[in-house]
Amino acid sequence: MAKGNLYIVTAPSGAGKTTLVKALLAADPLIQLSVSFTTRAPREGEVNGRDYHFVERTEFERMINNGEFLEHAEVYGNYYGTSQTWINSVIESGSDILLEIDWQGAQQVRRLFREAIGIFVLPPSLDVLEQRLRGRGKDSDEVIARRMKVAREEMSHVDEADFVIVNEHIDEAVRDIIAVVRAERLRLVAQSARHTALISALKG
Ligand code: 5GP
Repeated sequence: MAKGNLYIVTAPSGAGKTTLVKALLAADPLIQLSVSFTTRAPREGEVNGRDYHFVERTEFERMINNGEFLEHAEVYGNYYGTSQTWINSVIESGSDILLEIDWQGAQQVRRLFREAIGIFVLPPSLDVLEQRLRGRGKDSDEVIARRMKVAREEMSHVDEADFVIVNEHIDEAVRDIIAVVRAERLRLVAQSARHTALISALKG
């Protein structure tokens, strides 16, 4: 059985990451979005196991002490984290996992999960990024300038990725991300695990 891959998708706000990830998930049933663990209470309409794995604080702390998280953080008094145990079990079962996190989270994950594949999504230019951040034009110049600063900080980490997708036309960007995932599945190590008997018979 070929193991799955762990993909980390990083992008500044305004690059179109959410749309891209949604399209990839819809096109490829073998990829699952990582579901984080949290100690906060479920909101109306949220489903345990789909939106988050909701757990008690004592359980979360037990998981931290057990070293079960790839990364975790406390946000507004609640814990959030990505479970290494859960990710390992999905990957062992042959499915791929996709993590949507910022460069800091990506660095933490890469330290513990060396085989993770980083995909960075970029806008085609600073002007287009600014237009996208302006959206419907409701925010002040000051707010937009702050968002641009955060976006540039994120983009300064592009060198840490394995693949870069420039999202000028969304259809093409979707084809690009699908191509990355397909190419990774065709690596010799994965194909040898999948087609062991065939490859050994053909090799002679
Ligand atoms: P919310 O409670 O609104 O769903 O999320 C609050 C914050 O927690 C968001 O900024 C979200 O990005 C962050 N968050 C959600 N899951 C994780 C996680 O697994 N790890 C980390 N470090 N932050 C997370």
